[in-house]
Amino acid sequence: MSSRIFLAVLLLSALSLTVQAADSTAWQAGVARVVITPPQPMWMSGYGGRDHAAEGAIHDLYARAAAVRDAQGETAVFISSDLVGVPIKMVRAVSAVVEQKHGIPRRSLMFTCSHTHCGPALDHMLSFMLDMKDADWQQVRDYQQWLNGKMIELIDAAIADLKPARLSAGSGRTTFAANRRAPKGIGPYDHQVPVLRIESPDGQQLRGLVFGYACHNTTLGFYNWCGDYAGFAQLYLEDHHPDCVAMFFTGGGADQNPLPRRTLELAEKYGRMLATAVDDVLDDGELKPVTGQLKTAFRDIDLAFAALPSKQELEETQKTGNRYLKNRATNLLKQWDEHGRLLETYPFPVQVWQLGDGLTWVALGGELVVEYQLRLKHELGDGRTWVTGYANDVMAYIPSERVLEEGGYEGDSSMIYYQLPSRWKAGLEQQIVDTVHELNRVTQE
Ligand SMILES: [Zn+2]
Repeated sequence: MSSRIFLAVLLLSALSLTVQAADSTAWQAGVARVVITPPQPMWMSGYGGRDHAAEGAIHDLYARAAAVRDAQGETAVFISSDLVGVPIKMVRAVSAVVEQKHGIPRRSLMFTCSHTHCGPALDHMLSFMLDMKDADWQQVRDYQQWLNGKMIELIDAAIADLKPARLSAGSGRTTFAANRRAPKGIGPYDHQVPVLRIESPDGQQLRGLVFGYACHNTTLGFYNWCGDYAGFAQLYLEDHHPDCVAMFFTGGGADQNPLPRRTLELAEKYGRMLATAVDDVLDDGELKPVTGQLKTAFRDIDLAFAALPSKQELEETQKTGNRYLKNRATNLLKQWDEHGRLLETYPFPVQVWQLGDGLTWVALGGELVVEYQLRLKHELGDGRTWVTGYANDVMAYIPSERVLEEGGYEGDSSMIYYQLPSRWKAGLEQQIVDTVHELNRVTQE
């Protein structure tokens, strides 16, 4: 080989190394899924009016995960689940184990749920809306222990599956979500369906799909385990693409319902619509390669309550209120005994991931209304911003300032079912949005 050719080869290989580092195939990814259907019949979550345990199943419930690692070795794990919420006790227990075992910090784990109302009752405050006896509660706590173990198993499996992968992102749309606040169907909505595709480096094998939609997963309210429309969408996609794990997350869908609803056929239909929207994104070739680095940030901020009841008021409610008000008063009095007062604030989780240079992924706790999603997309850049709600702790509804002022279920009365003392104090929207901007800056430095 002449020295000139040798130099050219050397230059070429150096060039290809540089290209590789900035390339969408510089990633590693791992996917996994586990069945989390309760092994025993037990109470279902989401509706306070249910009066007995589940009777059967339409299909299994799953938790699914995608681990991603950039060329620098930074690793994050996204977790999706066919559950009504994300109990904070579960998040703490599971992330402590994952951090210790894998060295992955809390900021790099994103726990999400589909908010199905045909899943099991969990060990969190929302379950006090159910008319459960001590034995039922014991069953819930036993299930939660088992579920925590399954979550660790799931994350272990996704990390063990890490191998070179190509990532790309895009977005589609489907139209079944409608603003459910009065007057119905008039208020803001967001029909976007964000999609992340995980493939083998040669593009031959589709390994994972992460997708979202801003809509309550509440087509159904019967006594059978079911992932509702989101569960059907995931199963359709997994059926259509063998060896692919399809993972749903809920966007800011707290004030959105699938309308009309309440039949199994409608849940299947919406699942089909959502899966088709995802498939259309795969087919239309508009997916952009995800290139660059992974950066993550996380912070709990103190959201304040508008007012705290006195001890006397709570004792009075305990005697005279309806079942829901009585349960809340009992829980708040318990808090009084533990802390010598009622807590004025709640720690609200805010998380921001930069998945490469072109995708900012915001994950907020609680039942997030759509205005957060619309505002953050506008302020952080439409087309490059994803918003996930119901993430890392579902402790209450999170109304926008407008919805808080209007009141109603999402702005006020839903706080009863979450065992919280009052509506949120005005100013929460700006506090949350400011924190997102701050974490966005930190992760872009
Ligand atoms: Zn809800």
